[in-house]
Amino acid sequence: MLPDRRSFLIAGGASVAGLDSSSANAQLADDEAKAFVAAHVKKLRPLEIAAGKAWWNANITGTDADFARKEERQNVIDAALADKDTFEKLKTIHGYIRKATKDPNLVRQIDVLYLQYLEKQVDPELLKKITAKANAVEQKFNVFRAKVGEKELSDSQVRKILKESTNSEERQKVWEASKKAGANVEGDLKELVKFRNEAAKQLGFKNYHEMMLFLNEQTAPELIKLFDELDDLTREPFAKAKAEIDERLAKNCGVKVADLMPWHYHDPFFQESPAVFDADLDAPFKSADILKLCEKFYDGIGLPIGDVIARSDLYEKKGKSPHAFCTDIDREGDVRVLANIAPTEYWMSTMLHELGHAVYSSKNIPQKVPYVLRGEAHILTTEGVAMQFQKFSKQRAWLEKMGVKVENPKAFDEASAKVLRNELLIFSRWCQVMLRFEKGMYENPDQDLNELWWDLVEKYQLLKRPAGRSAPDYGAKIHICSAPVYYHNYMMGQLFASQVHHTIAKEVYDNAEPSTVLYIGDKKVGDFMKKKVFEPGRTLSWKELMKFATGEELSAKAFAKDFRTK
Ligand SMILES: [Zn+2]
Repeated sequence: MLPDRRSFLIAGGASVAGLDSSSANAQLADDEAKAFVAAHVKKLRPLEIAAGKAWWNANITGTDADFARKEERQNVIDAALADKDTFEKLKTIHGYIRKATKDPNLVRQIDVLYLQYLEKQVDPELLKKITAKANAVEQKFNVFRAKVGEKELSDSQVRKILKESTNSEERQKVWEASKKAGANVEGDLKELVKFRNEAAKQLGFKNYHEMMLFLNEQTAPELIKLFDELDDLTREPFAKAKAEIDERLAKNCGVKVADLMPWHYHDPFFQESPAVFDADLDAPFKSADILKLCEKFYDGIGLPIGDVIARSDLYEKKGKSPHAFCTDIDREGDVRVLANIAPTEYWMSTMLHELGHAVYSSKNIPQKVPYVLRGEAHILTTEGVAMQFQKFSKQRAWLEKMGVKVENPKAFDEASAKVLRNELLIFSRWCQVMLRFEKGMYENPDQDLNELWWDLVEKYQLLKRPAGRSAPDYGAKIHICSAPVYYHNYMMGQLFASQVHHTIAKEVYDNAEPSTVLYIGDKKVGDFMKKKVFEPGRTLSWKELMKFATGEELSAKAFAKDFRTK
């Protein structure tokens, strides 16, 4: 008879906190872990459902009362996860769980909970300082207006001028004025970074960047390796795409390509594709029923979403959030989308995106997956799925097969292919700057951050540093304050989307060329997504899921293949 793995491992020597070498005690430990999880779920599940509903309501009504309730609900959850005694118990269990049980889902639940509780173990006084500082920065952002002469410009006015003006001098003034947002928060942001680093050190990390990655089951070396690979594979196609854009930008402003400066691009950070290709991508959507198209598409691939739509809030109204999101309220199928649908390509793509999140939820993650693990494997995997479906709104073949009439097919093809390609390439180079800057800033906050920022912008985005410029331009990007160490997940989501799509092309469509694979009406696509991506929920880490779904680790290969010059 084979030895019982559990007692074998424990008898095998390692002394485990709270355990001695007997399988009876291992059984006790196993029971203790199960009891911990059960108590957690009993306490947190109702709190999480209430918070989910409060969040939903606040975004629908926009009232102060609903926003206050939303914050209140979140505070109750944070307080529960911050509880010292509960964390001590969890830490002990986390220390021995691998040796105490054969149940991989129990180990995984303890691992996931450990990270959730760990994040909240910062000294409450320090946490208060961090929250206050972050709020102060955010508030300064909200009231900041770029000032040119005596004229104050809103964010959208800045964007409009950068999009439309053909006067280089005006562009420069507006761009420089918009960057003052950085100088405006520089002092607060630097303090915030120090506080965040202090919090990380309290929990045993070198700095905040390292801690945030750890909490999200990532490490800096593996990210840098992945982003280096992405850099190699996108450098040339990006340079080519940018050269083509530069030519048009220069022509529009009557300057030489060599004289193009950062203010000649259409947004303050060159994170988006400048609108230089005459394209009316909106035309086919003027008379299309976006909602019906989504329903038909998802239904056709065997991932129906009628129930989600019935629960959703999809059109503009007063007080409502102007954005879009998808939320899983109870992990039992109450999944909803908030949107503000208008007849444009943007909303077609946004709805495909949000409903992508919706199908990757407790709708398709079985109830037998434990509550703690009944969600997406990682933020990057759910963003990835959403992006995988989102791209179809820019493919004519897809639109036509879905019954949407495209009046000027040739113009649409040229523009849409270019826009999609440029968007992804430009975004990938911008993400390089964000990842590497944040890493550098938290590792060494006392270095010359102005210099670091422009070194990266020059290297990855191929923009020219204005002569002698030394200003905290990084500070003008609100994510650095409000969504720290997060940006790279958007990029990794794109890599995930390409890799899964290429796998579907290979396995479901018998090695078809990925760009021709449109999914329409193929229930096999839904089956693949359910079995290979959705059903494991969080029982697998994002890395394990990647291997499970595609047979390979996450890489930039598939993403880069989508840009090979044809
Ligand atoms: Zn999303």
